[in-house]
Amino acid sequence: MRKWIVAGNWKMHNTVAESIALAEAIKNGAAKFQGGKIVLAPPFTALFHVSEVIKGTNLLLGAQNVHNEEKGAFTGEISPVMLKDIGCTYVIIGHSERRKYFHEQDNNVNLKVKKALTTGLIPIMCVGETDEERLKGITNDVVGRQVKQGLKEVEKIDSVVIAYEPVWAIGTGKVATAAQAQEVHAFIRGILKNILGSNAADDVCILYGGSVTKNNIGDLISMADIDGALVGGASLKADEFIGIIKEIAGKK
Ligand code: PEP
Repeated sequence: MRKWIVAGNWKMHNTVAESIALAEAIKNGAAKFQGGKIVLAPPFTALFHVSEVIKGTNLLLGAQNVHNEEKGAFTGEISPVMLKDIGCTYVIIGHSERRKYFHEQDNNVNLKVKKALTTGLIPIMCVGETDEERLKGITNDVVGRQVKQGLKEVEKIDSVVIAYEPVWAIGTGKVATAAQAQEVHAFIRGILKNILGSNAADDVCILYGGSVTKNNIGDLISMADIDGALVGGASLKADEFIGIIKEIAGKK
């Protein structure tokens, strides 16, 4: 059966010193929460230092992006082999900020997911509709397309973590209601069931992301198909992040 996951996406925040301090504070508060996975995704520049802080603990390292080639003339890019080498277990792929500002599309996401898996990294593949798409009533079309295209010809789909992150909820303070999120999570699990069969689909972790805080996670995490959270802003404050872990560990 699937276990809960709480992942903190620090985005483009924190120097090395700030990252070490935050990782230390989270480590001290989160050590007691067993039974699930806690992932820290600092900026690339702090991956090594954070890996040193969390070595031997229940915290795992994640990166925020990856290239789909192992090596080569791709100035400024980071390969999955490099992430593995530095101690990453997870990598966030297809975050809406990557899709919006860096023009990543479903085919890029798909290539990255495949390469991450063959390198031994666990992809956290992000999907989600914009405000406009929700208002038009095409949420399922958009999310369905992103899930199917992102997982096209992927061999170990049951190793992928999916994060449903409605774009209108990211960094806006406008969290989805538990019912809204559950509806999309169940829809995603339905797609996985069609591809993988029921048992394997039940093992896939589907995270909710979008303005999660320790005060609003309780209702969300009580939903059957919500298996954890991908947290942005609130993961930058140790107290908030630990509060979210506590709620999730207590309810799942
Ligand atoms: C995110 O960036 O993945 C995210 C969910 O951000 P926030 O929690 O700040 O909305």
